[in-house]
Amino acid sequence: MESPRYVVVGGGPAAASAARRFAEAGQSVAVLTAEPLPPYDRTVLSEGALADPPAPIPTLWPDDAPWRDHVFVRTRTRVESLDPDGRTLTTDDGTTWAFEAVVLATGAEPRRLVVPGADGPGVHHLRDAEDATALSAALASTQRLVVVGGGVIGLEVAAAAVQRGVAVDVVEAGPRVLGRGVPAPVAAWLARVHAEHGVRIHAGRTPQEVLREDGLVTGMHLSDGTVLPADTVVVGIGITPRTALAEAAGLSVDDGIVVDPSMRTSHPAVLAAGDAVRMVGGHGERGVRLESYTAAGRQGEVAAAVAMGGTESFDDVPWSWSDQYDATMQAMGVPPPEAREVVVGGPDSPVVLSFDGDRLVGVCGVAHGPGVARPVRAAAGAIAAAAAVDVEAALAAGADLGALARVLRDAGRR
Ligand code: NAP
Repeated sequence: MESPRYVVVGGGPAAASAARRFAEAGQSVAVLTAEPLPPYDRTVLSEGALADPPAPIPTLWPDDAPWRDHVFVRTRTRVESLDPDGRTLTTDDGTTWAFEAVVLATGAEPRRLVVPGADGPGVHHLRDAEDATALSAALASTQRLVVVGGGVIGLEVAAAAVQRGVAVDVVEAGPRVLGRGVPAPVAAWLARVHAEHGVRIHAGRTPQEVLREDGLVTGMHLSDGTVLPADTVVVGIGITPRTALAEAAGLSVDDGIVVDPSMRTSHPAVLAAGDAVRMVGGHGERGVRLESYTAAGRQGEVAAAVAMGGTESFDDVPWSWSDQYDATMQAMGVPPPEAREVVVGGPDSPVVLSFDGDRLVGVCGVAHGPGVARPVRAAAGAIAAAAAVDVEAALAAGADLGALARVLRDAGRR
């Protein structure tokens, strides 16, 4: 039986930050990941990793980090079962690992497209480094790409492909792209940029069949009867949290491993963090799944701190970004669908302030270049404090994103 004091299961930002937190406290920890690489940063997989030449995939496991001395990482290792009461788990090589506490950072699985012809070569999903390498290689010989799903993955892949000279169609089930969480004015602005680059967006339609000849993809038949020619298909239709291990271990699961804001599951020896969890407490009865890179990293730290007897909890305002062409979209906070929206910024830099009554609950903006980061990041304090904002001053700032940032920063200080 192996004997590190703590075990972390997973290979993304939640796993990396949990391991680091244990190690920095001088505790021995094993990281078990099914992937061939130690934990790495997935945010480039739908952007730079698809460019020609591809950008390198940043590791979250730097060789020279002093904390690495306390960590033992085992790649290509799948955890098959977990016994919370016995405080052991077993891996697919037959090893049993004992632990004082375990952090599950098992991430999520891309949802599969289930239509005739969807299984087989030429249809790609994108979740790990291997997927990105395979898709990048396929794009080199692709004339026409159909992207299914107009979410963040779909639009980032569309931008990367069209910049490699590939003709791109995006098929989105909802009435518009980025329907989940991105305000309509920001989504419309980005959709226009895609159109300017030649990407055709087909909203309100779903795939009915992936057409093939001699096994090779030739097109896609849509619900409105349209047939789009294609030689490659990419599917980005959302994710499903990986909960099978937790469920089999008897932990509470509800479309995500259920955790409290201290990342505790229903068993005291098991914590969980990242895309795999649904965090209950403070955000409505059923809680939230954040699907956010920065939130996952912080949740991993909290999980490790709490496993070691600390009292931390996750209360960060989630922040996310998406780079497409030379445009940057950024979002701070998770506004409810019924939030009242006020559009500020300029015509070429729309910024949407979301309010619950008078209280700021979210800011999302987009512009060419990185400028929109200023007002969005400046809003963190105001959103954390659910502060009121001087809306007149925000409107008066117009296209001056620095002035808008000052208004939002001041709101957080009051
Ligand atoms: P997503 O953001 O949930 O978007 C999926 C989109 O696909 C939705 O607009 C959805 O429409 C649509 N859809 C669902 N079923 C469909 C169908 N059968 N045909 C056509 N469209 C369909 O998910 P994603 O883009 O796949 O991204 C997956 C994960 O990666 C997320 O956790 C995301 O946060 C993460 N990610 C983040 C970034 C970033 O933050 N920059 C970048 C890449 C990936 P409905 O909403 O109408 O169902």
